[in-house]
Amino acid sequence: MIAEMLNPTMPPSLWAETARERFDAPPPDGDLDVDVAVVGSGFTGLSTALHLAGEGTRVVSVDAAMPGWGASGRNGGQVIPGLKDDPDALEAHFGAAVGGRMAETAGAAPSLVFSLVDEHGIDCDVQRAGWIQPAHCRTALRLVQDRCAQWRRRGADVEPLDAEAVAELLGSRPGAYLGGWLDRRGGAVQPLAYARGLARAAAGRGARIHGGSRVVALERDGTRWRLRLATGASIIADHVVLATNGYTDDLWPGLKRTVVPVYSFQTASEPLSPNARASIFPKDHVASDTRRLLWYFRLTREGRLVMGGRGPYSEVPGEAAARMALANLENLFPEIGPLTPAYAWAGRVAMTKDHFPHLHRLADGVWAGLGFNGRGVAMGTMMGRCLAEAILGREPGLPVMDPLPFRLHAFRRFGISAYSALYRRRDARESANPAL
Ligand SMILES: Cc1cc2nc3c(=O)[nH]c(=O)nc-3n(C[C@H](O)[C@H](O)[C@H](O)COP(=O)(O)OP(=O)(O)OC[C@H]3O[C@@H](n4cnc5c(N)ncnc54)[C@H](O)[C@@H]3O)c2cc1C
Repeated sequence: MIAEMLNPTMPPSLWAETARERFDAPPPDGDLDVDVAVVGSGFTGLSTALHLAGEGTRVVSVDAAMPGWGASGRNGGQVIPGLKDDPDALEAHFGAAVGGRMAETAGAAPSLVFSLVDEHGIDCDVQRAGWIQPAHCRTALRLVQDRCAQWRRRGADVEPLDAEAVAELLGSRPGAYLGGWLDRRGGAVQPLAYARGLARAAAGRGARIHGGSRVVALERDGTRWRLRLATGASIIADHVVLATNGYTDDLWPGLKRTVVPVYSFQTASEPLSPNARASIFPKDHVASDTRRLLWYFRLTREGRLVMGGRGPYSEVPGEAAARMALANLENLFPEIGPLTPAYAWAGRVAMTKDHFPHLHRLADGVWAGLGFNGRGVAMGTMMGRCLAEAILGREPGLPVMDPLPFRLHAFRRFGISAYSALYRRRDARESANPAL
C-alpha cells in the first residue's frame, strides 16, 4: 500500500499504453477545506466532481492511486444503455413512477457520456454507432427480442436483428449467434482516456483531483466530516461521496458487504491486417453477448480485437484466461486465422444482491454510489450526476436506496467460484444446444 501511495502506476493494459489523454494528480500538499470530498476517482467520482464543480461547489476527488486506476481505466469501454433489468421489470419492482424514471435515467446514460466527450473535447476514440447484444440460444433470443420491444415502446432507437443481420454487423461466422438486437444509443470509448478526460474537465471547472491519497479514516468533526489521508494530510468537508465500487474497503462500516467484487479480464490481439479488419464490425458497432458469464468484444481504432469475460479471482488474468478469449475470437471470426495476444489485464466489477446500482445516503452528509454489475461506463457517469443532484438538494434520476448487504460476505470467494462454475456449465450446454 505504501509503494502504491508513493509511486502509483496504472496496471499494464492496452488502454494504459495507448491513452492520449494525460492527467497528473499528485497528492495534496496540505490540509483541505471543501464543500464536498469524493473518495475514488473513477467515472463515478469524477463525474460527481465535474457536475458539482459546474455548479460552483468546492469539491475535491481523491484516489488511493490515480484517476482511472480502478475498473474505469481497465474496462471494455462499451457504453451500454439501460440496467441488467429491463424497463418493465424496473416498473414492476419499483412502481411505475420510480421504475419508469430509473429506466429513463439508465437509457439516457450513454448520451450523457457522449455529450461530456463533446463538450470537453475528450480524446477517447469515441464510437457511437450502437451496441449489439447477440443471443447464444433460443431462450436468450426471446429475452432480447422482448427487451428490444420494451425499449422501442419507450421511443428508444433500437432494432431487433435476425441471425443473418447479426453475422453481417459483427462480421462473425454464420450461426455463431441466433439473432439479437441493436441499441443505437450505445457505443464505446477508450476508457482510461475517457476517465482522464473527465478528470481534466472537472479540474478545468475548479475541482481538485488528487492521486496517491488513500483515505484511511472518515470521522465526524462537529457538523462536518474529516477524512484522514495515508499521506498524513486531512480534508474537512460538509458532504462526502464514496465512489469506490469494486475497490470498496472498510472506510465506511458495512459498505463493503453490499457489493461482491468479481474479476473481469480482457485480451487484446495484435492489430489485424487491413483486409481482416474491413470485415469485422464493418459498421463500427460493439457487442456483449447474452451468456450468464458474458463475452464482450470490439475492434479498436488501431484494428485490434479486444475480448473480455469473467476471469479468475486475481488482478492478473493469467495465460489460460487470455487463451480462452482468443480461442473464442478465432471461433467467431474463423477467416482471420490464429490471433497473436498482445495484452491481457483484469479489474474488479461490483455486483449487488438485487442487480441494481445503488445510491445511498449512509448518514447526514455521507453518500455512496456503487454496484454497477459490469455496466458502469455509462451508469457510473450517470450515477455521478445523480449524486451531485442529491447533494444539491434536487431529485436524483435514481432512487436513494437502503444498503443491502450480502449475508455470508466473508465467504464470497467460494460463492463466486461455485456460481461461476455453474454458470459456465449452463452457458456451455446452451451454446452446444442453441435450440434451448
Ligand atoms: C475488465 C472490466 C471490463 C468492464 N467492461 C465494461 C464495459 O465494457 N462497459 C461497462 O459499462 N462497464 C464495464 N465494466 C464495469 C465498469 O468498468 C465499472 O462499473 C466502472 O468503471 C465503475 O466505476 P467507479 O468509478 O464506480 O469505480 P472504479 O473505477 O473501480 O474506481 C474506484 C476507485 O476507488 C479508489 N479507492 C478505493 N478505496 C479508496 C480509499 N479508501 N481512498 C481513496 N481511493 C479509494 C480506487 O483506487 C479506485 O480507483 C468493466 C469492468 C472491468 C473490470
